[in-house]
Amino acid sequence: MTANERAPSPSARVRLEAEVLTTQLTADQELPVSRAADADMSVLRTVLVVASDADLRRYVRECLRDVQRVRVIEAASVTEALDVATHDSPHVLIADWSAASVVSALSEVRAVLIADDLAEISDARQAANELGDMEPDLAGRFTSALYFPDEAHMPAPAALEFMLAEVQRAGVEIVLGGTPPAEANDTLIDCRGLAARDALPNLRGVRGERLLIRSHEVELQRPVQLLHPRVPLYVVPWGDGLFMIGATLIETEDAGPVSVRSALELLGGAYAVHPAFAEAEIIDLGVGVRPAFPDNVPRALVREDGRHIFVNGAYRHGFLLAPVLARAVADYLESGRVSELLVR
Ligand SMILES: Cc1cc2nc3c(=O)[nH]c(=O)nc-3n(C[C@H](O)[C@H](O)[C@H](O)COP(=O)(O)OP(=O)(O)OC[C@H]3O[C@@H](n4cnc5c(N)ncnc54)[C@H](O)[C@@H]3O)c2cc1C
Repeated sequence: MTANERAPSPSARVRLEAEVLTTQLTADQELPVSRAADADMSVLRTVLVVASDADLRRYVRECLRDVQRVRVIEAASVTEALDVATHDSPHVLIADWSAASVVSALSEVRAVLIADDLAEISDARQAANELGDMEPDLAGRFTSALYFPDEAHMPAPAALEFMLAEVQRAGVEIVLGGTPPAEANDTLIDCRGLAARDALPNLRGVRGERLLIRSHEVELQRPVQLLHPRVPLYVVPWGDGLFMIGATLIETEDAGPVSVRSALELLGGAYAVHPAFAEAEIIDLGVGVRPAFPDNVPRALVREDGRHIFVNGAYRHGFLLAPVLARAVADYLESGRVSELLVR
């Protein structure tokens, strides 16, 4: 996974998946029915995909293939879409730039506009021929690739160890367990993840599974993301032959062991990146449940006149955005400045 000062620049398609997920989630939250009942319910959401490019429409359909209670209808033009909308009221519109006007024409419908950052993507594409120079082990394996030079990565356990050591070096006493002392003038910074749902009811958990494998036959200099519509997984070199493969993104708070299906997807993804991973050792399988707000954007929320600050909703961006959240809280405590991620 990448870690950098600024958010990574995912491809438009990855952004689309994030949006679709949010949409699905919103629908789920509006309809708090039990899973058993879900299975019996007929289609509840209609997604209208409007794009002149048939491949793009197919891609969106593929993205939504496993999403339950969704019916996908396609339209190749705005005129066709408006016609469809008169008898099949869509709940969500997914349109590409060529059909952008459908968004204003059906302004009451929630919309996702696929906006390729053309300049950025074409810059990245120029590097495709150089894939073999940059990652010799991937030479000749892929016909195209995208390269984003500003991205960085780090092994998460080493980062956590480093941060713990730095906090202690700064003189902070760490007490595990127990409850914080309730002194009137204290500020409590609450980073309890999902456990804070007692105070933040719109938090939800998103399950993630990852594998750790060791191979001395493959060398990668940087994280490689497989661009696949449903399995957009990363292979992240952690050094010393270790590679983190992950992570799945599943809308459930079940923190049970890694499923066979997910393990197959993750291992299959690694194998697709390089067949020599077939000989790798499986070192560890891990599961976690990420805390997320409905829009998947992390926040610091100020309550009780600043005496209680919740820092939560880190979702997939924990390591990436933690420094930004920490800065937002520190600025607020030091000067009262309210940054974008801090909500009063
Ligand atoms: C498989 C997987 C892979 C991931 N990979 C990456 C990655 O590569 N890069 C990245 O940036 N992010 C990644 N993430 C996301 C990242 O792990 C989360 O964003 C991050 O863990 C959220 O951090 P948090 O501290 O806000 O919440 P949490 O990690 O949920 O931590 C909350 C902590 O609070 C503790 N707690 C709860 N109640 C109390 C209490 N009363 N008193 C004291 N402590 C309490 C809990 O025990 C827990 O340790 C991944 C997530 C998963 C599941």
